[in-house]
Amino acid sequence: MDALKGKQTDTTAPDREWKFSEILADHKIRDRWEKVRQYFFLRESTYDMSNRCNIKCEGCYYFEGDKQFARQNKDPEAWRELMRAEKERGITYVVLAGAEPSMVPELCEVCYQEMPLGAIASNGLKFIPESIQYKIHISAWGNDETSFKIRNAKNMLGRQIENYKGDPRAVFVYTFTRDNIDQVYEVAANLAEHDCQLTFNMFSAPVGYDGSLRHTADSLDKTRKTMIDLLLKYPRNVLFSYYNAVVHTHRSGLHDLYACSYPRMNPSTDIGLGRSFRQYRTDLSWNRDVACCVPDTDCVDCRHYASGSAVVTARLFRHAGDPDRFKAWLDYVDTYLAIWVMGYDKGDNLCNHLVAPPGHEVF
Ligand code: SF4
Ligand code: SF4
Repeated sequence: MDALKGKQTDTTAPDREWKFSEILADHKIRDRWEKVRQYFFLRESTYDMSNRCNIKCEGCYYFEGDKQFARQNKDPEAWRELMRAEKERGITYVVLAGAEPSMVPELCEVCYQEMPLGAIASNGLKFIPESIQYKIHISAWGNDETSFKIRNAKNMLGRQIENYKGDPRAVFVYTFTRDNIDQVYEVAANLAEHDCQLTFNMFSAPVGYDGSLRHTADSLDKTRKTMIDLLLKYPRNVLFSYYNAVVHTHRSGLHDLYACSYPRMNPSTDIGLGRSFRQYRTDLSWNRDVACCVPDTDCVDCRHYASGSAVVTARLFRHAGDPDRFKAWLDYVDTYLAIWVMGYDKGDNLCNHLVAPPGHEVF
């Protein structure tokens, strides 16, 4: 794997002080900045759609904690009202998640009618009607043998591809655990053959989890190399960047690197996610004290792709001190928008080497 050879930027201060206008003098940087900043209006909240799932996976964060016991509100009009109220308080983007949203397509439909931008997290085994034009994130946790072992589902990838090949809504999300790193090659080859899009997630342990999926320093390093290797091998299919790889495989989790802005870790209600984000349960209740996009995940171990999408993109100013770091951040935001927003096409990455998160080393 040669992907990690070449230039690596460490945390030493930039060679000089850069004004933002000087950074934008590079037309590639300016064009990308203009492209991504049009989406700064996005304000997300997340919603548990159903307390049922058609499979049972080891390490599932939904079936941790007490949110799984919330009563399920199945009334479409109650959901419509909720979406309207959400719009009123400034929410422009919804993430429909736990347990399995495809179990309640009629509720997803209502959400889409009221709130046209959003994404659904699904295991991909039950097709979500095309009338719901949200991005659909289909979870893959290894090859079929592993899926059978951990998720108790047979021929999982084949069934997911059958449902979603050629569907512009679909992005397959491969979650790296300690044990499935090499298996991604088989999965990526299969997805590329069917012209599917793929991005990467990191297993982030639920609170109290003590099983074998949790990452170690060695598995983080190996995962980083593998991510970059696949980014170079399948540039048309893999939605990712060098900086994504650094951020999500760093020895420190996202909270240590960037100070998580979700309410659960952020007492401030003045601006941003701390002010607007809510995580609704299936009974349409919410609780600020536990609100984040992956509730019941252990914050120290949190490297989740959904968390990074909000936490890293919110740190514009910390990345705007020199061109290299700003390019890395733009790649991250460009990747995130391509994964989460219908109709947004990812551009070529601007920064093709490892750049350290501000104030940290590269590993
Ligand atoms: S498919 Fe998702 S919600 Fe269902 S058990 Fe697995 S991780 Fe949990
Ligand atoms: S689990 Fe992740 S996203 Fe949630 S509060 Fe902790 S660090 Fe933030």
